[in-house]
Formats: sequence, C-alpha cells, structure tokens
Amino acid sequence: MSTCFWYKECKVCEQGRLFIVEDLSRHRLYLHCEECEIGFIEPCHMKSGETFLTLDLDYDCRYADQETIDRYDWQKFALNSSAIADAPKLC
Ligand SMILES: [Zn+2]
Repeated sequence: MSTCFWYKECKVCEQGRLFIVEDLSRHRLYLHCEECEIGFIEPCHMKSGETFLTLDLDYDCRYADQETIDRYDWQKFALNSSAIADAPKLC
C-alpha cells in the first residue's frame, strides 16, 4: 500500500494534518493542510504565518513519497506516515 507523510497538526485550524505534497508544476514540496486547505511553502513559515490557499493555485500535485522526500532533503519533516487510502484526495 502506498504511504504518504505528514509533519504536524495544522496551527491554523488545529484540526488537519499537514501533509507533505509535491508540486509537480513548480518542482518543490510544501505542506498542505487536509482541513483548511492552507499551504506552507517552507515548514519555517508555520512560525512566520506565511501561507497560501492551495485552492487558489492551479497545479499538478501528489503526495510526496519517501524517494521524493529524500531528494528534497525533507526527512526531518516526515514525522508521521499514513496510508494514501486514508488521506484526502488532492487537487
Ligand atoms: Zn488547517
């Protein structure tokens, strides 16, 4: 079964998990909240409060797999894992 990874609970809505998503159009990873659809381009933006609304953007994306996370050196943000079948559908 495919696995996806998430960092922490969302600080904005305090309900969703922040999944690590690969933006295939811009070739980068970001954190995507499953509940409020907010995104953080860098995990440090959780502190600065810099967000974007993922619904406003038009791009192809998918849950980042282990190989992708290794490639972007985001292992330290992949604190939790979940089956993709249990994760919400992305754009
Ligand atoms: Zn949220």
